Amino acid sequence: MKTGSFIHNPKMRNFLLKFFGQKNFFWKLITPLLKLQKNMKTDCIFCKIVRGEISSKKVYENEKVVAFHDINPQAPVHILVVPKKHIEKITDLEDSEEDKEILYDIIKTCKIIANQMKIAERGFRIVVNTNPEGGQTVYHLHFHIIGGRQMRWPPG
Ligand code: AMP
Ligand code: ZN
Repeated sequence: MKTGSFIHNPKMRNFLLKFFGQKNFFWKLITPLLKLQKNMKTDCIFCKIVRGEISSKKVYENEKVVAFHDINPQAPVHILVVPKKHIEKITDLEDSEEDKEILYDIIKTCKIIANQMKIAERGFRIVVNTNPEGGQTVYHLHFHIIGGRQMRWPPG
């Protein structure tokens, strides 16, 4: 299509008139952007890891989740599994198909990682710290997979 003819194209003109003629065209434009912002918090450290803006030692990735080594390991094996979608904490998970699939994917990934790291048979621990008294420091949902040594109980 030649430049300049874009607006003169009757089909295109019709589309633009229809779209911008709608009462709610502003919301139709802004809603996907708001959704994107909700799903990908710009200032969140784990969102930055998901986007590859901060380096990490990734051990697994699929469409919905990423798993990488914890920067401050508490055991010989310490992997974090995080959803690509920005969800602050476990209590923010919604009863939606999307969040159900994410949760299922996280658990499936924990199993994959445990096998990959050869701790499935020996045993390991999955921890989800939540809110201040739970010891959560990064507010992007993450499952710690900890193993490679004897775990103690009760945890500190
Ligand atoms: P929590 O205290 O349960 O919120 O866990 C946050 C975890 O994220 C801690 O174990 C940190 O060591 C880990 N962590 C923080 N920043 C990074 C990073 N850039 N890469 C990998 N792990 C990180
Ligand atoms: Zn995030």
